[in-house]
Amino acid sequence: MKKLVLATKNKDKIIEINNLLKNTAIQLTEVQGDFNPVESGNSFEENAYIKAYEAAKQSGLPSLADDSGLVIDALGGMPGIHSARYAENTQKRIDRVLQELKNVKPEKRTARFICCMVIVTPSGETLHSCTGICEGIILEEQKGVYGFGYDPIFLLPKFNKTMAELTLEQKNNYSHRSKALKCMIEWLKSNNLFSY
Ligand code: IMP
Repeated sequence: MKKLVLATKNKDKIIEINNLLKNTAIQLTEVQGDFNPVESGNSFEENAYIKAYEAAKQSGLPSLADDSGLVIDALGGMPGIHSARYAENTQKRIDRVLQELKNVKPEKRTARFICCMVIVTPSGETLHSCTGICEGIILEEQKGVYGFGYDPIFLLPKFNKTMAELTLEQKNNYSHRSKALKCMIEWLKSNNLFSY
């Protein structure tokens, strides 16, 4: 495998993923043109597959996609696979979560970020799939300016900081996305799929 296309137009994901790949031989090409596959799957894995297959068909190259989201126990797993569409913009999505958790005590505000990554060929074959999970607690108010999405309300108990208080390097040492990608890098290396 000489080239791998990254099946996303999400700038924040692209920054995090490229930062994680900077000391590897793996270079991802960005997907070209309009890219808006309908995420009609019922799981992170199904949606990752839809995106990766779409980019693979469009480019004629194997493609890597990430589908991720925030799973909150007190909300029965919501927003989950609906994380990107839970309200019309990031601030409204955070406000909605905080409102829905208004009467929920701190010890019941457990949550996790989940990231599923898959590599799919233009013929639709899944070459590999990896999932990364990062556990945390939903705060009652926002803290921090880094990261994106729900990062300002997601507390990492280990650091007593939100994901948005971590630098890119710190987030990439610990996040769901970095765990999934590290698993994928190991698989690519152990199968000699990325030697130039
Ligand atoms: P996707 O593009 O369908 O995978 O949407 C993922 C959505 O989940 C994003 O738009 C964010 O709202 C949320 N999300 C995923 N990963 C993160 C993260 O690392 N930090 C904060 N929010 C995230």
